[in-house]
Amino acid sequence: MQGTMMNFPLTLTHVLERAGRLYGDSQIVSRLPDKSLHCHSYRDFYRRTRALAGALQALGLQKGDRVATLMWNHYAHLEAYLAIPCASGVLHTLNLRLHPDDIAFIANHARDRFLIVDDVLLPLLEKFKTQVKFERIFVVPLTGKPVPDGYEDYEKLISGSTQFVAPAIDENDAAGMCYTSGTTGKPKGVVYTHRSIVLHSLATATVDCLGLSNRDTLCPIVPMFHVNAWGTPFTAAMVGAKIAFPGPHLDAVNLLDLYESEKVTLSAGVPTIWMGMLQALQKEPQRWKLQANLRMVCGGAAAPESMIRAFDQFGLRVIHGWGMTETSPLGAVNYIKRELDGLSSEDQYAVRAKQGVPPPFVEVRTMAETGEAPWDGKSMGELQIRGPWVASGYHELPAESDKWTSDGWFRTGDIAIMDAHGYIKIADRIKDLVKSGGEWISSVDLENALVAHPAVQEAAVIGVPHPKWDERPLAVVVLKPGQSATADALRDHLAPQFAKFWLPDAVMFVDAIPKTSTGKMLKATLREQFQNHFIK
Ligand code: ADP
Repeated sequence: MQGTMMNFPLTLTHVLERAGRLYGDSQIVSRLPDKSLHCHSYRDFYRRTRALAGALQALGLQKGDRVATLMWNHYAHLEAYLAIPCASGVLHTLNLRLHPDDIAFIANHARDRFLIVDDVLLPLLEKFKTQVKFERIFVVPLTGKPVPDGYEDYEKLISGSTQFVAPAIDENDAAGMCYTSGTTGKPKGVVYTHRSIVLHSLATATVDCLGLSNRDTLCPIVPMFHVNAWGTPFTAAMVGAKIAFPGPHLDAVNLLDLYESEKVTLSAGVPTIWMGMLQALQKEPQRWKLQANLRMVCGGAAAPESMIRAFDQFGLRVIHGWGMTETSPLGAVNYIKRELDGLSSEDQYAVRAKQGVPPPFVEVRTMAETGEAPWDGKSMGELQIRGPWVASGYHELPAESDKWTSDGWFRTGDIAIMDAHGYIKIADRIKDLVKSGGEWISSVDLENALVAHPAVQEAAVIGVPHPKWDERPLAVVVLKPGQSATADALRDHLAPQFAKFWLPDAVMFVDAIPKTSTGKMLKATLREQFQNHFIK
């Protein structure tokens, strides 16, 4: 028997129309390079986005053509987010923190046709412009200065646009693409569809995920070039939430000022951002008046339990999430399930430090060498995932197909432990696990315990070749300004929490830990640096 329901396409065109029709009064605030605030309404956003979509059509944009953006988080980037896919193009967000040669490689690999770029990022573009072949380059005049010769003005493109006629779009058409940030290898392109983004947005809005609603003010700190700011701009547009974009100002004081002035209730960022914010709050606890219901989504790397506790002292709730470029990125979000209400607050913290449970339609399993690992809170295996917003391949990289199992699951490259309640705990990336005498040691657990020490600002634990044990853990530690601690003191701090063989054999104190373009610790660099430490 056939159902009698409409086969209504899940496209971003609907999200844009809804934003314009239902939420015209919602506000979009953006911090500009000079730190002033640019404000406009969803009504303006709708009009300008349609104008941009119409202009792209007039330029001859064909279905599937890539339009690249090289932009911070602000109103014009949001316009590109919706205009490009609604004109049947593909939004390709370029990561401005990469080396210029890598940006050029990615733009060429994706065969980007047009580029929209912030005026303040033109010096970066100049560094790789000769290596790429954009047909047209449009500059967003964020500083208000005239657009330099040789470039076209984004504002003129919009104001000169004629009527936009929404093209027919299939929900499985490509809508956006993003390259992995390359923490563990060459960047690989993931192509999102209208359908995958729409379903991801719906899931994100559910209360047990981020619960992003019309009543929220969203501040996406995670860059819009990093997995679409975790999809939050699309979700915000779908529900008509107010958005406060931080622009290029990502330091703790500017962010906290923005939280206060715009009454931010939901924000998203990587642990490094939150650690900086925590220090600012600890230094001046009375300075900012923040919203009582502010939730801070932390993902991209593990959220230390000590950090979750410290924010609780300020009445601020950290929500731990896990994801990847290949998973759009929402793969798991943490909330305390009703069946765990009876846990002591201590035990609840241990649960909140896990990466969470998968949202509806995302399925996970952990695979050990002997088959699927039981959900017993101790067995480790590779986390594998499938769902409607999980990639089924990379853009033009057929050689990478071994990242998918023969029965259709994506191999995340993360080692995880599932518990009986369905919470995922990431123990490590496969490449970062320390293998000591045939046993696995989780660098993430050790790092989280190290940053709980009052003198420690940041810590990375790496496996370093060892003549007897294959590898032994070595801790690389950055101390807080003005604080001191010895290697023995840190080992004493860890000792009650771990088996003896887990304790790092060496602790190296450094001024800074090298980071990737998305703020993750570059352990490959550290491993290289300390590779001969135990082999003399
Ligand atoms: P890259 O792989 O280049 O860093 P991604 O941004 O896609 O690019 O990173 C995904 C990876 O980040 C995951 O596979 C995982 O190792 C790590 N990650 C993301 N969120 C968390 C988290 N909450 N806890 C631990 N690791 C995380």
